[in-house]
Amino acid sequence: MAKRDYYEILGVAKSSDAAEIKKAYRKVAIKYHPDKNPDDKAAEEKFKEAAEAYEVLSNEDKKARYDRYGHAGVDPQSAYGGGGSGGMTMDDIFSNFSDIFGDSGSPFESFFGGSRTSTRRRGQKGSNLRIKVALTYEEIAEGVTKKVKVKKQGTCDSCGGSGAKDSGSVQNCTTCGGSGYVRQIKSTFLGQMQTTTVCPGCNGSGQQITSKCTSCKGDGRRAIEETIEIDIPAGVEEGMQLSMRGKGNAGPNSGSSGDLLIMIEEKKHKYFTRDGQNIMFDLFINFADAALGTSVEVPTLSKPVKITIPPGTPPGKIFRLRSKGLPVVQSYNQRGDQLINVNIWTPQTLTPEERLLLEQMREMENFQPKEGKDQKGFFARMKDFFE
Ligand SMILES: [Zn+2]
Ligand SMILES: [Zn+2]
Repeated sequence: MAKRDYYEILGVAKSSDAAEIKKAYRKVAIKYHPDKNPDDKAAEEKFKEAAEAYEVLSNEDKKARYDRYGHAGVDPQSAYGGGGSGGMTMDDIFSNFSDIFGDSGSPFESFFGGSRTSTRRRGQKGSNLRIKVALTYEEIAEGVTKKVKVKKQGTCDSCGGSGAKDSGSVQNCTTCGGSGYVRQIKSTFLGQMQTTTVCPGCNGSGQQITSKCTSCKGDGRRAIEETIEIDIPAGVEEGMQLSMRGKGNAGPNSGSSGDLLIMIEEKKHKYFTRDGQNIMFDLFINFADAALGTSVEVPTLSKPVKITIPPGTPPGKIFRLRSKGLPVVQSYNQRGDQLINVNIWTPQTLTPEERLLLEQMREMENFQPKEGKDQKGFFARMKDFFE
């Protein structure tokens, strides 16, 4: 098979300088790289062809001979050529890659491997920490800052998280030379493929510790108790989860910290129950107050409020205190109401005198139940509510 022209393979002019040739080769090598073209024999041949072309054109001496004698001047079989009859092996090609693609030797980590970033990976990420915080309705109404003591894995003071005894006991990893990655050439039935993996010697940190920190035994962490201030916004609800980034457990060997996850719980209230943003309150008044009317003080989440009970108030009547409920999370101007449900207090025991008075009242015409506009029972009110 006649060999193609080396300049043509790389797509450069004969007059190109070393930098242009290198740039052209990088482009072609990326295009036909086996990592990008798995199981593609044609691409592999083009990849090898380009490597051979670059091998010659990047060498001043070989290039001069090629320019003068063509392929014969650099034929592998001749005294000047290198490698076997098929030119270069994949091993040869990849071993030359470091000066083309930098210390990792692979052009693909950034867009295929993904894990290599500008900052070197150090250690692993710490785990998330979960806590529960129980709040009163009053705290939920206004928002609150809670100081919470948590037991967690913190950074070791002695070594600052590195796990090393001192700065002199850290060296570049001998397995990967400090890059954090190793290249492996795998033989497959289609030829040899290069893969790049995290260095097993240093887990990607690129460093090795020759002498471990005695406090943490090289882990970089120790058990600590930390008081964390948690800003809880107004309006949160039972079951909501807040998170604070980086407040969880420290990662081993200077790895980044996990998050602190805060589960909200509601404390039972002495007077109130909650229905969404509304606060429900059961008010008990006696029959006389309901019939005659009165004014009573009712608790709210802030200060008590006086409300008027008009004469003839039936049980089950609901009074509404606007905006005395709970806010919608992160929206202070949207606030629920406090609903006051009127209940009539029935005495459980009676003195003889009370009994006599009630027996007289019981016979009076005006005390007999009537079908009337304000005498709606619970079921009738529910029916109104749902219709
Ligand atoms: Zn330590
Ligand atoms: Zn390493």
